[in-house]
Amino acid sequence: MELLLLWIQNHLLSVIALIVTTVLIFHYVIEKDYAIKLSKKYRNSIYEAQSKIFLNATQHLIVGNRDMAIKEFLNAMDINRETLEIYFALGGLFRSNGEIEKAISIHRSLIARENISDSTRLRALKELAIDFDKGGFIDHAIDTYKDVHKINKDQPDVLLALCRIHEDIENWDEAYKYRIMLSKVSNENQSETISHILVQKAKKLFYKGNYHECMESLEDAFKFAPSVSAKILQLKLYIIQGSIEDAKASLLEILKEHPMYASFVFVSLNESITNSKEPQTKEMYNLRLKTIKEMFLSLDDKDLLNSPSIILSKIRLLKDEQKIEEAYRILKNWMDLNKNHSEAIKAEFVKILISLGRYEEAMTHTMELLDKIYQSLTRHYCGQCGYNSDSIFWRCPQCREWETIQFRWKI
Ligand SMILES: [Zn+2]
Repeated sequence: MELLLLWIQNHLLSVIALIVTTVLIFHYVIEKDYAIKLSKKYRNSIYEAQSKIFLNATQHLIVGNRDMAIKEFLNAMDINRETLEIYFALGGLFRSNGEIEKAISIHRSLIARENISDSTRLRALKELAIDFDKGGFIDHAIDTYKDVHKINKDQPDVLLALCRIHEDIENWDEAYKYRIMLSKVSNENQSETISHILVQKAKKLFYKGNYHECMESLEDAFKFAPSVSAKILQLKLYIIQGSIEDAKASLLEILKEHPMYASFVFVSLNESITNSKEPQTKEMYNLRLKTIKEMFLSLDDKDLLNSPSIILSKIRLLKDEQKIEEAYRILKNWMDLNKNHSEAIKAEFVKILISLGRYEEAMTHTMELLDKIYQSLTRHYCGQCGYNSDSIFWRCPQCREWETIQFRWKI
């Protein structure tokens, strides 16, 4: 409150001038459109009251009585519903203009008023929370959103804001709490998100070395939704705890359900294990991970080996271990069996040929790769909306702009 008074003291004249001008403009517009709504007598009384207050406030200011001027000014604005709207509009305007402190002052002054309805106070409080949020005053934003939520529990947007902030600052316990509340008032299913939040919480526990709590959080995550991220962390946990058979089964399950995540799984498994409490854990982990990788490399599951992602993961693992010849053999074999291979496979093959010094072969395959890339790109696209086409278009069929065509290749 003190801050607000200070601010108003410094800017009183300009605030009064601005608000009175706005009020007058607003009433001009209102009257123009809804002339019948307000009787002339009522309109005149509003003008009269506002002019009087404006004069009083100015007089107080001139004689140096700032407190009285502010009081007069603050009392002035709730003469009718429209002036409250102007307050809200001004607050919103300041906020969107980046003048957060001014927005905060306006909304705080609204909240502090005695003669407003509860719903208006709640609305002002919500606006204030948004001010803090936009201004990056995280703690104030959280507290204010919480106050808003206490008054009315059924506000998905407030709960979503609390979820977002806690997810931003990675406070997963709070994020979880508010997601659960949100799932009760929102129509959208939150299970997948809740599962992800619990996995994030489990991840934090994992890197702290609290494997038992980590497992508990993961089990909760699985209850909401069996997300891939939960499965990958569980696999990691099996490895660190030495449950190699569980780890192997878990890896196979992930690969069968989501072969396209194969490379990502190994990237996650390779992430370093930081645990100062047990320095030997890292060594043990890497040893066991090696066993898991060997198991993966010796896989002969037909379905799995058909997947290009699985093959690419194998190739990458072999390259990491400098087994370039073996990588070449496996990839060549796979390409002979599967004629329609992607550019990623082809590019990997070219890289292997180069590392093996087989430059002639590499050149041939590079030419084929370039042809393939060329064919897979359309020749023209719309510079406005990105619409792709091989034919010439003067008016884009998608965004309907004229002559937005762009050429990918200068022919
Ligand atoms: Zn277009």
